[in-house]
Amino acid sequence: MDYRRLGSSGLKLSALSFGSWVTFKNQVDDAAAVELMKLAYDAGVNFFDNAEVYADGDSERIMGRALKTLGWGRDTYTLSSKVFWGGKLPTQRGLSRKHVRDACDAALRRLQVDYLDLYFCHRPDLDTPIEETVRAMHELVLAGKVLYWGTSEWSADQIAQAHGIARAGGLTPPTMEQPQYNLFVREKVEREFAQLYSTLGLGTTIWSPLASGILSGKYEHGVPKDSRMALPEYRWLRDELENAEGRERVRKAGELGKLARELGATTAQLAIGWCLLNPNVSTVILGATNAAQLRENLGALRILPELRQGVVERIESIVANKPAAPQRY
Ligand code: NDP
Repeated sequence: MDYRRLGSSGLKLSALSFGSWVTFKNQVDDAAAVELMKLAYDAGVNFFDNAEVYADGDSERIMGRALKTLGWGRDTYTLSSKVFWGGKLPTQRGLSRKHVRDACDAALRRLQVDYLDLYFCHRPDLDTPIEETVRAMHELVLAGKVLYWGTSEWSADQIAQAHGIARAGGLTPPTMEQPQYNLFVREKVEREFAQLYSTLGLGTTIWSPLASGILSGKYEHGVPKDSRMALPEYRWLRDELENAEGRERVRKAGELGKLARELGATTAQLAIGWCLLNPNVSTVILGATNAAQLRENLGALRILPELRQGVVERIESIVANKPAAPQRY
């Protein structure tokens, strides 16, 4: 395993980490969660990602029970939660001081830990002043309940505003952002945030490196019955898979697969390895529903030396979506 600093912070996360969106509860039960988390940890993974909204809290409950079973020292791994969608009532959603505090306490109870290493604002909340959220996060840091706070799918401007407010008020600024990043979705990480890495020391914990599995090549011949796209609750993902853009993605994944095979790698390993080539990626959060997938994906580290200039150029020509020059402010 390689370890990378989370932006300019002193925290070193494993380059590959493990998350539970969709999978825990829907596809992965308690026993499988223990198996997958152990496999990841034994391979050097030290970051496990979660959120209050995943399976309405059951994802955190399963992870909490798994951590209890596994009995790892609390100083040997890092854990996250995310606040935004806690329930249906107005007090249970968004980034108000109230919900940020209530959601953190609830996540700690479900995960059965005393503190969260990383705590994310899962989306921007246009109904709450950014200053209120920055102060609420700062208070959690002071209370010892959160070590590093960050954002997910915020704009560069919103992140810069949060930093400015924190700097002016002597408050804790956000350390990291959690954006989608993969061979199909590149704009935010490569263009919009380009300046924030050096000016604010922003770290990134990137999600859906396989675009929900498409970049494993598994959808080339239809939708396997046991796959995410076949889950009734995720019909919207399947709709995206079946529209013109989705079909084009599946085609490109097939082309990438041919290149991967030339390198002695799988499509998934090529796609995950490509994310790791970006030095502004602090950690790539893997998703997996079984041990074989996770083992394969962790193998992405081994193929990194194969991803030389010429290979990267061939990847670029297949995906044909390189963002324009980085955005400047
Ligand atoms: P991926 O895009 O890597 O998709 C993972 C899924 O793809 C697996 O669950 C599995 O689904 C399939 N898959 C994975 N590896 C293979 C393989 N080798 N061969 C075949 N199929 C494979 O990541 P996720 O979308 O799961 O995102 C990763 C993590 O990122 C999440 O768990 C979560 O922690 C975080 N996240 C954060 C978001 C945010 O808004 N901040 C949003 C989304 C995710 P199956 O077996 O069902 O086909």
